[in-house]
Amino acid sequence: MFNESKKAMTAISQYCGNRVDYVQGGGGNTSYKFNDKLMAIKASGYTLADVQPEQGYVTVDYSKISRKYDEISKKMDIDVEAETLLINLDCVELLHGMKDLRPSVEVGFHSYLQKAVIHTHSVYSNLLCCSDEGRDNAKSIFENSKYGYIYIPFISPGYTLSIRVKDEVIAYKAENGKMPDLIFMESHGMIASNDDYETAIEIHETANQMMIDYFNSVEFPKAIIKKTSKGFSSKTEMINKFIVDFSADENYFDTVNIYPDQIVYLQNNLGKTILIDKDNASIEYIMSEKQAQTLEEVLLGVVYIITEIKRNELSLKLLCKEGEDFIRNWESEKYRASLVND
Ligand SMILES: [Zn+2]
Repeated sequence: MFNESKKAMTAISQYCGNRVDYVQGGGGNTSYKFNDKLMAIKASGYTLADVQPEQGYVTVDYSKISRKYDEISKKMDIDVEAETLLINLDCVELLHGMKDLRPSVEVGFHSYLQKAVIHTHSVYSNLLCCSDEGRDNAKSIFENSKYGYIYIPFISPGYTLSIRVKDEVIAYKAENGKMPDLIFMESHGMIASNDDYETAIEIHETANQMMIDYFNSVEFPKAIIKKTSKGFSSKTEMINKFIVDFSADENYFDTVNIYPDQIVYLQNNLGKTILIDKDNASIEYIMSEKQAQTLEEVLLGVVYIITEIKRNELSLKLLCKEGEDFIRNWESEKYRASLVND
């Protein structure tokens, strides 16, 4: 059953799953609505490249999610994030033969959007979303294009972000008579959505090309690691150069935080299993090859964005203090970070 829908879910996930410039580590997620009740969403702890017709995602009752999220706002004195997590798990409606996995923590906002939703942490979109000039530049790029868009300030992920996306989409639709094609989320990334999955892919791809052209972006390098006696070392020239140019040590990457994934992936590793020697421009990863490759990609995303923002003479927008504290203490993210170690 649902073979066409499973094919669509696989297509949108595979489209961006192997693009490190679009998704780094387990970041980013996709969803596809099978009907007016069931929605496939990437499973937490899986990468987009893992998604196949029968794996890497879970199906949820998204009508129930939006109904339950609406009820939360009426309740007093509850732990909203704990409640949200319970709802997300409670709304899983497993298809026959599928593994019982946990839906992505971003399942909430997917519920309010079109049939096919592609959410990435595209480094080009983050040249907008991680700079003070982002909103103005988004206007310059997209205002007179065929794509309608929304630009959302930083909101802590999970319940609060879901409700904000819902409210913004309703307001946009009331004003424009249609759903937005694109959503940019400050200190986070972008969303492309459409009822037709191939169109959703086209919107995501074209929008990224428009941003690449606008910022005259340099080519995104390949993340390369090499085996050493202790683990693996970074061989990506852009990262090695960055460490020297920005005098970037462990403390730098722990304090210059541009978005949640940087904290999620790096916070428990810096100075312990990620050792940076800025004088010799080297990074050593004391971990498995898979983990080292993941962290090299996460680091490359951060390094690319900061380098390109400086080169374009924009000002880097750091994650706000409240956002940083929220992420450092967020249970769902701890779960996701623990799955990196699989
Ligand atoms: Zn995200």
